[in-house]
Amino acid sequence: KKETEESISNEVTTTSSQPAVFIPVDRSPKMQAARLKLPVLAEEQIIMEAVRENHCVIICGETGSGKTTQVPQFLYEAGYASGTGIIGITEPRRVAAVSMSHRVAKEMNLSTRVVSYQIRYEGNVTDETKIKFMTDGVLLKEIQKDFLLQRYSAIIIDEAHERSVYTDILIGLLSRIVPLRNKKGLPMKLLVMSATLRVEDFTDNQKLFKTPPPIVKVDARQFPVTIHFNKRTPLDDYTGEAFHKTCKIHRMLPSGGILVFLTGQAEVHSLCRRLRKAFPFRKGDTIAADGEEDDNSEAVKRFKRAKQKKSVSLPRIDLDNYSAQPVDEGDEDREAGIAEDEGSDLDIGDDPDDTDVKGDPSIPMYVLPLYSLLAPEQQAKVFRPPPPGTRLCVVATNVAETSLTIPGIKYVVDCGRVKKRFYDRVTGVSSFKVTWTSQAAANQRAGRAGRTEPGHCYRLYSSAVFGDFSPFSEAEITRRPVDDLVLQMKDLNIEKVVNFPFPTPPSTEALVAAEQLLVSLGALKEPPRLGSVKEMERARLSCPITPLGRAMASFPVAPRYAKMLALGRQQECLPYVIAVVAAMTVRELFEDLNRPAGSEDESSKLSHRRARMVQMRRLWAGQGPSLLLGDIMVMLGAVGACEFAGCTPKFCEENGLRYKAMVEVRRLRSQLTNAVNSVCPDMGVFVNPKMSPPTAHQVVCLRQITLAGLGDHLARRIQAEELLDPKWKDAYKTPLMDDPVFIHPSSPLFKTLPEFVVYQEIMETTKMYMKGVSAVEAEWVPQLLPQYCHLDPPLESPAPWFCTSTGGIRCHRSSTFFRVAWQLPAVEM
Ligand code: ADP
Ligand code: MG
Repeated sequence: KKETEESISNEVTTTSSQPAVFIPVDRSPKMQAARLKLPVLAEEQIIMEAVRENHCVIICGETGSGKTTQVPQFLYEAGYASGTGIIGITEPRRVAAVSMSHRVAKEMNLSTRVVSYQIRYEGNVTDETKIKFMTDGVLLKEIQKDFLLQRYSAIIIDEAHERSVYTDILIGLLSRIVPLRNKKGLPMKLLVMSATLRVEDFTDNQKLFKTPPPIVKVDARQFPVTIHFNKRTPLDDYTGEAFHKTCKIHRMLPSGGILVFLTGQAEVHSLCRRLRKAFPFRKGDTIAADGEEDDNSEAVKRFKRAKQKKSVSLPRIDLDNYSAQPVDEGDEDREAGIAEDEGSDLDIGDDPDDTDVKGDPSIPMYVLPLYSLLAPEQQAKVFRPPPPGTRLCVVATNVAETSLTIPGIKYVVDCGRVKKRFYDRVTGVSSFKVTWTSQAAANQRAGRAGRTEPGHCYRLYSSAVFGDFSPFSEAEITRRPVDDLVLQMKDLNIEKVVNFPFPTPPSTEALVAAEQLLVSLGALKEPPRLGSVKEMERARLSCPITPLGRAMASFPVAPRYAKMLALGRQQECLPYVIAVVAAMTVRELFEDLNRPAGSEDESSKLSHRRARMVQMRRLWAGQGPSLLLGDIMVMLGAVGACEFAGCTPKFCEENGLRYKAMVEVRRLRSQLTNAVNSVCPDMGVFVNPKMSPPTAHQVVCLRQITLAGLGDHLARRIQAEELLDPKWKDAYKTPLMDDPVFIHPSSPLFKTLPEFVVYQEIMETTKMYMKGVSAVEAEWVPQLLPQYCHLDPPLESPAPWFCTSTGGIRCHRSSTFFRVAWQLPAVEM
């Protein structure tokens, strides 16, 4: 009985499965001396005892205490990589995986063939590899191939305090994998490492670990850090404020490195440039360019190759023809593309003149940038001592908060902000926004100044503002959409997402809604309507993934847009689909010229610009067939025209476009192109910023692709005989809402009033207006959205739209049936 009990429980039982071997490591005396100073070394015995006696152990210790670099070495020395299994360490950030593997190889005096790393599309893992650093996305992919992770004898999940979605999912999966492995006599260890002591979500979670795993705490020496708050809080220009503060520190305070925290790549580069200008560094130096690489040349070649294979152009989008069908082997890492941790914004324009602050150019400043996407050789520079006679200044994003410890930092300048991903509930669009960080994170940042001697932290905000920060950052999963997450998990063959042991679970409603959306998009298979209500309910929460769903899962955008990208390869539409998806993701391309004017002068200017905008929109909308693509065509036209003009602030201002939004569209286009190219290299998309307008055939395809992606946002014009209220003239009905909705007067379709349209979102102003409207043909609906249609369905069918065998479309939730005569296309349903 005991045996069965054990086999069904996920309990961490006590066994001492590992042999007491010791694998010697030949470290240099200098390295050994440096190691011995690290606080984690004092805990080696306690950690290893805990690991020997438990399957799962949690290690908490302040950043810089040596967890990441030393714990893998402990395991190695204890023989965990002496057999067939190797030691795996996951990091949420690519920078950390690469840089830590190099560091550990060096400390252990082993080649990078033995201590290696694997990040998306890049790595140096060999057959000899014993210690493998990787991003959490890489390990997730490996689980998909081998659920038992048989290559590993131990897995370390690092930076668990960051609560990244992938880390959370990995911990959930491993809580099941580890007991399974042990049951099968293939012992495996799990170590979860965190910089904070807040680990209750992992320990007090019955669903995750039946017996809470032991926690080993590493006490780190920390020198006092004096906190200096700003009196006032700059609202926008914190980069400028950081510049002034850094200059001041450099001119007035004794030696010691400076670490500046900003939020993104563009800010980091801008501040680096300004600082280098103020405190120039002469002589043939190593400082120069930060290796900005944006080499699309491989993509160009592929594009040319693909071009040679001319395709036939029948304007018909085929649901079975989606990109990425043969998903690439192995190494794809899902934190890809625009889901990047701190975004990677394009550098825009020049910096303002720095005439007001002049440094003392006699002491050069050794300025280094540090962010996630920086090339590894560039990253490695921060660990080397600065050239003699200079002061080190590292300008970083929050990668320097806990993942990397830079030596010699005495001063920290903290802007108090962080770039976070936000989710728009209406559109399903996610975007990066700069917000205040948490108190815990701000304290982590300050702590960076007190590693080797007492330090100072300059906060570019007031103590009152700090008081309003939330105490901790919440788990990403609770403030994030789950539809893409559910799709990712289904792609991992986790069918019952609702039963998954999340450390912090998303709400069931959120999961149900996600599953329904994915079914309607064709990414998941609809469960058969059989059995009792309860059985049907259960089936609705465990729909299997479809091949289309797998293709969609490989694109780093919300599922609706992923579907558009997956279908976009047809008729060479992909560059247009990428532009449309980018434009829809960046909201508000157009300036709001209807704002109240402050003066008469402004009012006349505004009305002048309004007239110009109306004119331009008409131009961009085109004529004839392209008009039916509606607002989507206007977006496409605006993006194309803006790029032809070189995307200048002047062009944007003159034509009522928001410059910032257009720059963002450009950035997204290039990122999505890279994502598409890496998912399906055979396609060779190349984004030529200067896009020529789509052909008439392509416009038809784009309308179909839009319908396929936004299908749950279908609306049908209310027919004359259905008018219950004269106010409903020209109104549309959608299955999602009881109230009628309207086409906005600014839309090219405002006068056309097509019978069926799809829209991007609904906005309520004076009326309920649909935004991003495009016309669709009725016969496309059963073809492109078969999930929405049922032939002769029973009335209680949950599908909001269905067609009858006599050829009609009905809106299920509406009291009035739509009776349109149209030919049922010859498709199997
Ligand atoms: P933790 O994971 O607990 O935050 P780490 O293991 O990352 O700590 O860091 C331990 C020490 O190793 C730190 O003092 C850090 O500066 C040092 N270190 C890490 N990487 C390098 C490197 N590439 N070069 C020199 N020192 C490094
Ligand atoms: Mg670490």
